[in-house]
Amino acid sequence: MSSLIKFKIVLLILVLSACSKTTPNNKLIKDSQFIFGTIVTIAFYGDNTMRTNQALKSIRQDFNALQKSWSPWDDRAMARVNKLIKTTKWFSYNPVVHTLLTDGKKYSFLSQELFNPTMGGLTKLWGFNTSDNMLSQPPAPSNIKKLLSNKTSMQDIRLKGVRMKSDNPNVVLDFGGMAKGLAVDLAITNLKKFNINNAIINAGGDIKVIGSHGDKPWHIGIRHPRGKNSILAGVDLNSNESIFTSGDYERYFISDGIRYHHILDPRTGYPATQTMSVTVIHSNAALADAAATALFVAGPQKWHEIAQAMAIKYVLLIDQKGNIYMNPAMQKRIRFQQKPNNIIISKPL
Ligand code: ADP
Ligand code: MG
Repeated sequence: MSSLIKFKIVLLILVLSACSKTTPNNKLIKDSQFIFGTIVTIAFYGDNTMRTNQALKSIRQDFNALQKSWSPWDDRAMARVNKLIKTTKWFSYNPVVHTLLTDGKKYSFLSQELFNPTMGGLTKLWGFNTSDNMLSQPPAPSNIKKLLSNKTSMQDIRLKGVRMKSDNPNVVLDFGGMAKGLAVDLAITNLKKFNINNAIINAGGDIKVIGSHGDKPWHIGIRHPRGKNSILAGVDLNSNESIFTSGDYERYFISDGIRYHHILDPRTGYPATQTMSVTVIHSNAALADAAATALFVAGPQKWHEIAQAMAIKYVLLIDQKGNIYMNPAMQKRIRFQQKPNNIIISKPL
């Protein structure tokens, strides 16, 4: 999956308030690792005890294992699934991919398949599966057409216990649109097991928090999709909330003045054209991640309908013209650095 290997610029920046109090036994501990194609930083208040070190070590190991297991192109669990899918026969899968399959099927259905993790053939054709073979121009239209002629869907995938089959041999599973979210959810669960209850995980700007930042909520800056590292707005996160963004600036190439980015519209086989970025807040980071991808494809006309279907309560979408769309609940909690020109407030979600 492309998110495994691409380097993602930080789009949301954790703003640590300068005045937070620390004591020797209650320092801000930070641990960073390059994983899922980005820098993932875990930060929490604690002391350098064995427990803290064990927690960080355990999360590092998990991230490494999950990255390998979930990669569609490596030689592990998901890659094996992709091989066996081609037989269209039933087989047993490694349970490490279970939640991606079951929840991925749900999110795909709810999003009217705008979130479609069966398009690994297309992401590979576009070269978004690896940072090494980024294309300089779009693939031949005939090759895109060929892949689209036999449409793949999560409905082709049948699941029974830990057995599965695909009715369509052309399915190539690529959960790059939600894997990072699920990994972050699992890491937060792990932190809690180690009794760490005030923490933030920042995966290249996609964030989940628990507890608070001292006596204040965790405060997050949302990056402007066209401003170089400039903050568009700030938002406080409640305990257990995550904020995920999909943007056209994460991984792209420009050819003949056209930006070709890594979020593909399953209906056309080309990068979705209407959106610059979508930010979603939800307690379930895997859902927030998948929804940000789906709403990006849905664009300014359809995002509200899809957000409702996916039970998302907070959305901020910026279209290609720079118009900002939000639902009223999101408007209530977001604070803009500079008042943007054109804000369109939707009906409540
Ligand atoms: P990022 O990984 O940069 O945070 P996304 O969460 O939007 O961005 O995921 C983009 C990745 O998801 C792509 O690199 C590709 O692997 C996969 N993908 C692209 N388009 C879709 C889509 N319509 N549905 C599901 N997955 C997609
Ligand atoms: Mg996503």
